[in-house]
Order: sequence, then C-alpha cells, then structure tokens
Amino acid sequence: MHLEKRILVTGGAGFLGSHLCARLIAEGAQVLCVDNFFTGARRNVEPLLDHKHFELIRHDVTFPLFVEVDEIYNLACPASPVHYQHDPVQTIKTSVHGAINMLGLAKRVNAKILQASTSEVYGDPSVHPQTEDYWGNVNPIGLRSCYDEGKRCAESLFFAYRHQRNLGIKVARIFNTYGPRMHPNDGRVVSNFIVQALLGRDITIYGEGSQTRSFCYVDDLVDGLIRLMGTSHDVTGPVNIGNPDEFSILELASTVITLTGSSSKIVNRPLPQDDPRQRRPDISKAKEELSWTPRTKLKEGLIQTIAYFEQLLSDQGLRATLNADSA
Ligand code: NAD
Ligand code: UDP
Ligand code: UDP
Repeated sequence: MHLEKRILVTGGAGFLGSHLCARLIAEGAQVLCVDNFFTGARRNVEPLLDHKHFELIRHDVTFPLFVEVDEIYNLACPASPVHYQHDPVQTIKTSVHGAINMLGLAKRVNAKILQASTSEVYGDPSVHPQTEDYWGNVNPIGLRSCYDEGKRCAESLFFAYRHQRNLGIKVARIFNTYGPRMHPNDGRVVSNFIVQALLGRDITIYGEGSQTRSFCYVDDLVDGLIRLMGTSHDVTGPVNIGNPDEFSILELASTVITLTGSSSKIVNRPLPQDDPRQRRPDISKAKEELSWTPRTKLKEGLIQTIAYFEQLLSDQGLRATLNADSA
C-alpha cells in the first residue's frame, strides 16, 4: 500500500533532474530517479540517497522500463551542445526511443507524463520573442539537429499519444536554465564563464558576443515544471518556461567578471555552426495557465551559482582535472 504520490524522474541525476527530485521529496512524494549517468552523477542526488522515499536506478531510457508510478517527468537527455553532439545517434535514440518507452509506460499505468522539451525547437528563430505557436527555424541536418529534431519528434510523439490514447501529457519548452550542480565541464555558457573566471582563465566568447539568451534560475524552472504537472487534463502545453530578461553573451561575461572579481580577460573564438542569434521566451501562456512567473534576477542567481562552483573548485582534485582539460 502506498499513500504518497509515486513519481518517476528520468534524467533525475542530472542538473535539472536532481533539483526536481529534491523538491518532490520535500513535498512528500515517493521519487524514483532513473539515469544512465551519461552526464548526470550519483553525487548530484547524494543527499537524497538515504531518504526512505527516494530510489535511484541506473537505466537507459532507450530500453523499456516497467515500474508502477502516478506521474513521469521525462528529463533524460544530454542538454549541452558539447554533450549532445558527442554521440548524435544516441542523442536521437534517447529523445525518440526514450519518449516512446516512457509514453508506453504512461499509457500502461495511466500516469500523467511531462516532457522536458526545449527552446531549441525554435532553432535560430525568426520570430522574437518566441511564442508557442511559432514553428521554428531548424536546420534538419546541422550539428544541432540530433538534439533539436530529436526533441521536436518527441513533442510530436507526445501529441500523437494524446490524440490516439488520450494520455495526460504536458510539454514544457525550457529556455536556458542555470544554477548550482551544472556540470563544470559541459561547455554551457554560464558554467564555462564562471569556471573560467574563478580559475583566472580567459573568458571564451564565441563570435562577437552579440547573440542573446534569456537565463532562468533553476529553482524558478522547477517551480514551473511542478505547476505544469499539476494542471488539469485539458492543459497539455506546449508552454514556454524561462526568464524573459534577455542578455547578450558579452553582457553575461562582464557580469560574471564583476561578480567574481576576476582578472580574466575576454577572448573571442569562432561562432559554432547554427548558433541561434537571439532567444527570449514569451511567457504569457505560462503566466495565464500556470500562474507562474520567474522571480530570480540574473545577478542573484549568478551569485548562488558562483558560490556553488567556488565550493566545487575548492576540491583540489577537481581543480587539477579542470586545469589539465584546458592544457
Ligand atoms: P543534464 O545533462 O544535466 O541532465 C540530463 C540527464 O539525463 C543526465 O543525468 C544524464 O545522465 C541523463 N541521461 C542522458 N541520456 C540518458 C538515457 N538514455 N537514459 C537515462 N538517462 C539519460 O541536463 P539538464 O540541463 O539537467 O537537462 C535536463 C532536461 O531538460 C533535458 O531533457 C534537456 O534537454 C532539458 N532542457 C534543459 C535546458 C537547460 O538549460 N538546462 C534547456 C532546455 C531543455
Ligand atoms: N513500454 C515500457 N514500459 C511499459 C509499457 C511499455 O517501456 O510499462 C515500452 C514498450 O516496450 C514499447 C513502448 O513502450 O516499446 C511503447 O509502448 P506502446 O504500448 O505504446 O506500444 P506497442 O507496445 O503497442 O508498440
Ligand atoms: N557560448 C560562448 N562561450 C562559451 C560557451 C557558449 O560564447 O564558452 C555562447 C554560445 O555560442 C551560445 C551561447 O553562449 O551563443 C549559449 O550557449 P550554451 O551552450 O550555453 O546554450 P545554447 O546555445 O544551447 O543556448
């Protein structure tokens, strides 16, 4: 007999997943965290391991999974360009086979299921800010396509299961999110700049730094996902979840340098292929349907994130590894 809600979080040992698991446990749920540890790590969920309502399973979602749960958050998928481009075929399998398996599971046990989709479905957008009814501008064969098209196909699968099987689906389009427990080596801009600043290394701006992103703090994001899961059957999304405060990458670099008091210099590196020039969510739908709005200003969130990386880098072994990687 169980009284608590049983919740499956795939990719639960990753950056967002670990915060989500901690929040769900704090709210009294039983959490089953499934992860193949490709980019996630046991240490991200270390504080939860002894909790009687928490269970961690090593499993790859491209293979079927048979468990009994009430809700599924499908987060399994590498999210940083460096990681998802490392093995593009596996990235597509994770998005597509992973979605099919989790939808099959949701259908069998009649669970609600939420997909962690992404602003990348809009590609290099020609509409600004991005609204959910914009279909996007994605290169289907470019370097980013394994991720972008994989996520687009997953959305399509979610809606196909909805139309054919009336599944309780929720699709969240997540915009650039940052915070403690980002992987120090995953190449994303916030973690890169903070680690570079703290180590006194050059801050690497790709291109001129005029491209923009809108950064959402992880606690706000998790709150948005939980609210979306809590909506009624008729609310499916897709719904943008992100912070509409937009910054150029150059502005981000300057802010990180100021907040860390670093003496690092800014250097320019080539812009990667198909790098989106601008990105900002229109969050009217999230405000209306979820009564959600992000609360954390970029500076506040960066201060928390910098504190996390300072602590992490005080581990001498890790500092040596990062220095060796950059050598
Ligand atoms: P992350 O890389 O830290 O987490 C992904 C997790 O999924 C990792 O723990 C990884 O080991 C696991 N994983 C990967 N492939 C798997 C597989 N085949 N089977 C089981 N587990 C697997 O990234 P994140 O930032 O926490 O992203 C989580 C989700 O949110 C992803 O689906 C990502 O696409 C989405 N998202 C994130 C952002 C962001 O800014 N962080 C933006 C848009 C969308
Ligand atoms: N599946 C799973 N766990 C379950 C139920 C299904 O992993 O509890 C997988 C199943 O192996 C299949 C996929 O989900 O590959 C899709 O299931 P569905 O029932 O929709 O498809 P079908 O089996 O009818 O092709
Ligand atoms: N970027 C950068 N320097 C870095 C890492 C990233 O200038 O060291 C840029 C990157 O080219 C992109 C933006 O920062 O324009 C955000 O990159 P990230 O990989 O974090 O996310 P995404 O491109 O998927 O939004």
